[in-house]
Amino acid sequence: MPSTKKDYYEILGVPRNATQEEIKKAYRRLARKYHPDINKSPEAREKFKEINEAYQVLSDPEKRRLYDMYGHAAFEGTQSQEQQQTTYTTGIPDLEEILKDFFDFGFDTIFERATRGRRERRRPVKGDDIYRTVEVSLEEAFEGVTVSVPVEREVECSSCGGAGYERGKERRCPTCGGTGQVVQRQFIITISQTCPTCRGAGVLRDPCRVCGGRGTVRSKEEIKVRIPPGVDTGSKLVVEGKGHAGRFGGPPGNLYIQVKVRPHRIFERKGEDLYVDVSVTFPEAVLGTEVEVPTLSGKKVKVKVPPGTKHGDLIEVKGEGMPRLRGSGRGSLFVRVNIDVPKVGLLEKVMGDGRKIESLLRELQEVLPKPERLKVR
Ligand SMILES: [Zn+2]
Ligand SMILES: [Zn+2]
Repeated sequence: MPSTKKDYYEILGVPRNATQEEIKKAYRRLARKYHPDINKSPEAREKFKEINEAYQVLSDPEKRRLYDMYGHAAFEGTQSQEQQQTTYTTGIPDLEEILKDFFDFGFDTIFERATRGRRERRRPVKGDDIYRTVEVSLEEAFEGVTVSVPVEREVECSSCGGAGYERGKERRCPTCGGTGQVVQRQFIITISQTCPTCRGAGVLRDPCRVCGGRGTVRSKEEIKVRIPPGVDTGSKLVVEGKGHAGRFGGPPGNLYIQVKVRPHRIFERKGEDLYVDVSVTFPEAVLGTEVEVPTLSGKKVKVKVPPGTKHGDLIEVKGEGMPRLRGSGRGSLFVRVNIDVPKVGLLEKVMGDGRKIESLLRELQEVLPKPERLKVR
């Protein structure tokens, strides 16, 4: 079949003596213009197939040599369809892959790549998150507190800067001469394979002696975490970037803190409100009184117990509860009234003359109206 195909150099728009670098640059520029992911016109698809084919031949030194000698005939006519596929693939490669491949070759020292390991596609990977539980007292939850959280995390290796290999000691792979591909020639058919020595990287590198090639090292740290006023058991905080280091230029993970607030000796907490129990005597409950209660802010407040207060009644003190985590101000402090019932025997012991109290109580019982025995709902 006589060749009606366009010249590969023409397709890429490069001179016949173009360097590999110029060919790659031209390819990338054209891919950005004609790749079907970017250019939706039907002609662009065909055009890009041509571009891709031209690039596959011209970017391979051996294929390029054959093409220079025989033209398109080097890859047609005598070969079966199957053999042609060993020369170049006709599909549309991923645009992302094209640009990545370009980085692989063009910016090798900036975009760190696999050493002698597998030919890894080094996509940036975010580091793992770390989870810790922090226990604080109710006072600390009220005031807010800065805590030190011990964390053992993976951090970037300072010796290799996270690259994983000994910097400045990279050398061109002697097997493939830096192309990452080895070409076997059978008659005029060439088969190119990933270089077994460098596994396609094109360069040989020694793994970093400090991190052994991982690019990260373990580090024990005390991370200062600010616990804001108002936290409650179950509150979650995030310290961005204090998880494990990312890989291949990926961002680090986060440190997640789960808060646990210890129970308090005096105060009971329900959300933004606090409860405190105070005891009054029966006459105090009947006649009313004033009690002094502590608060978490440190000051004591005087609370009026109104006449006729029943056991278990709540008296609200606004603004003396917990700070609101979201929003401003504080919840309420509820004073729960507990009517103390003295044991007569005990009073006798304390006061010597229990009988006087007993007779007073009996007298009182005579004059008090009888209560409703059953509570009507
Ligand atoms: Zn090699
Ligand atoms: Zn290292």
